[in-house]
Amino acid sequence: MRRFTGDRLLVATHNRGKLEEIAHLLEPHRVAVVGAAEMNLPEPAETETTFIGNARIKAHAAARATRLPALADDSGISVDALDGAPGVHTADWAETGSGRDFEMAMRRVWDALQAKAAPEPRTARFTCTFVLAWPDGHDEVFEGEIPGRIVWPMRGDQGHGYDPIFQPEGYDLTFAEMDRWEKNRISHRARAFEKLVQVFDR
Ligand code: IMP
Repeated sequence: MRRFTGDRLLVATHNRGKLEEIAHLLEPHRVAVVGAAEMNLPEPAETETTFIGNARIKAHAAARATRLPALADDSGISVDALDGAPGVHTADWAETGSGRDFEMAMRRVWDALQAKAAPEPRTARFTCTFVLAWPDGHDEVFEGEIPGRIVWPMRGDQGHGYDPIFQPEGYDLTFAEMDRWEKNRISHRARAFEKLVQVFDR
């Protein structure tokens, strides 16, 4: 694995929350984090069919444009009985034309499972993928997953996105019923972060 030896990292996201989370994570590693918005980076189209593919598009586009090592992520939920859908289209399933409606997206998942009469348990997983790309074209991939099942009706009012219908394996609570600290400790993102930080160890 190639290690990160620089002191500046471009984080290819326009999402403030994600940027702050990554900056916080990298604080002990003495890496200064620069956001995509500060560099006026365009948002490339995510045309691939995998999380890795889309994270690669974003990371390489940013590294080429800035000549800095660049980190991008992609994440979503994949339902086994739906052949992995919504997968890379997780956010698209919530798109209404005037913003995102995750209740509608969760209902779509449920309706699709009912239409198929999918047997219980309706297994699914959240995936979070980070790609770190260097301006010379090299990249490293870090992926975290958490397996679980889709439940209905929706339960809990914490978290975001599809949390109310996802019950992680080994738990009786959905992600939206867990306290945030607990979810953040076990999530797909936490697992991907755990792998990612190793690249910054000096
Ligand atoms: P992106 O990685 O910002 O493109 O987000 C992908 C989609 O996955 C978003 O619509 C999120 O709502 C959804 N997603 C990713 N992680 C989680 C999670 O931990 N809980 C619920 N939804 C998530």
